[in-house]
Amino acid sequence: MKSVRPNFISPNINSLFSDVHVIRSKQRSLHILVAGGAGFLGSHLCERLLKAGHTVICVDNFSTGLERNIRHLRNFEGFSVIKHDIVDPIDIEVDEIYNLACPASPPHYQADPVHTMKTCVFGALNLLELAARTGARIFQASTSEIYGDPLVHPQVESYWGNVNSFGPRSCYDEGKRSAETLFFDFHRKYHVEIKVARIFNTYGPNMRPDDGRVVSNFIVQALKGHDITIYGDGSQTRSFCFVNDLIDGFQQLMATGPSFTSPVNLGNPVEFTILELAEQVIKLTGSRSKTIQNPLPTDDPRQRRPDISLAQRQLGWQPMVPLTVGLEKTICYFDRLLTEQTYEFAG
Ligand code: NAD
Ligand code: UDP
Repeated sequence: MKSVRPNFISPNINSLFSDVHVIRSKQRSLHILVAGGAGFLGSHLCERLLKAGHTVICVDNFSTGLERNIRHLRNFEGFSVIKHDIVDPIDIEVDEIYNLACPASPPHYQADPVHTMKTCVFGALNLLELAARTGARIFQASTSEIYGDPLVHPQVESYWGNVNSFGPRSCYDEGKRSAETLFFDFHRKYHVEIKVARIFNTYGPNMRPDDGRVVSNFIVQALKGHDITIYGDGSQTRSFCFVNDLIDGFQQLMATGPSFTSPVNLGNPVEFTILELAEQVIKLTGSRSKTIQNPLPTDDPRQRRPDISLAQRQLGWQPMVPLTVGLEKTICYFDRLLTEQTYEFAG
């Protein structure tokens, strides 16, 4: 397996980041590796960390991430990009690691399920080994999917889940469960400082128009005047968190003391049916799109809502942005993106 050393910066990316410096801009600033930093959540996280004065090294294979998500960040002197697949080891000096690298949308993670599983398991292993060597604190972007099609509602962290081990979603669900296992074993065995966030459905700017998840699908379909594709009868539920709220939660979780290791649900506890979401999107876009029914994907969870009491108690965190406000911001983003003829894919 090939291992990457700090000075490797992908030639394609290098042209855009020719004046990249990896330096500490303030005395208390940290060197932070964000794996998956060019993706939807990762790009917001990189921006937050840079604005807080940290040096950020974005490590991404650009499979679902976009160069356009991070283009503006090259104005920060502490930002650098390494094109790298975390399935292979990486060796770099860092103080903190955020592991967000993994396709998150069902059509994307199912497109190459073996690579998704490798990303979850080998990727976590490689980054945990790096954390063990450097003494860096490490954050795992886990998921509500580890609860599968939950029989306990709302989902509490103590619930072990109801997960199919051999279905089309399993590469992601079981991959993320295995990653959690590795995180806790590295903590128990090698005293690595870990933080594990179980993220529930999150949406906002920097999602791809072809991401395939429900919020981006509905908004893009509504803006284009296409049919809105409801999978099944639309009575299944999800709870949607706006990205800014989630990134607050990431930072508050990462700032907890070393003895706090419990997985923490991060998501918005207000639950909607998928039909209700479609109605909201149609109303807010003023679209004339009609809803149509498509088959419900295999193992699609019936209901999902986080119990966030632990996050409220331990982090003092709860989402602040109501769905309509977050949807309006996301609609503006997609409207601009679809209008710009310059939209490009880097993947
Ligand atoms: P995304 O697909 O937009 O971003 C994932 C990023 O990881 C992309 O930039 C992609 O190119 C990169 N990546 C994928 N495989 C990689 C690999 N092997 N090596 C290096 N880079 C790789 O997804 P997102 O919504 O930003 O999700 C980020 C993380 O949060 C994922 O780990 C996902 O499982 C988790 N999560 C997200 C949500 C959500 O609602 N957005 C919910 C639960 C969990
Ligand atoms: N969904 C839908 N139409 C779409 C995309 C998704 O009805 O165009 C449904 C999907 O079947 C699921 C819910 O919306 O019940 C959320 O799907 P998403 O892929 O966003 O996330 P996940 O299933 O991983 O929660």
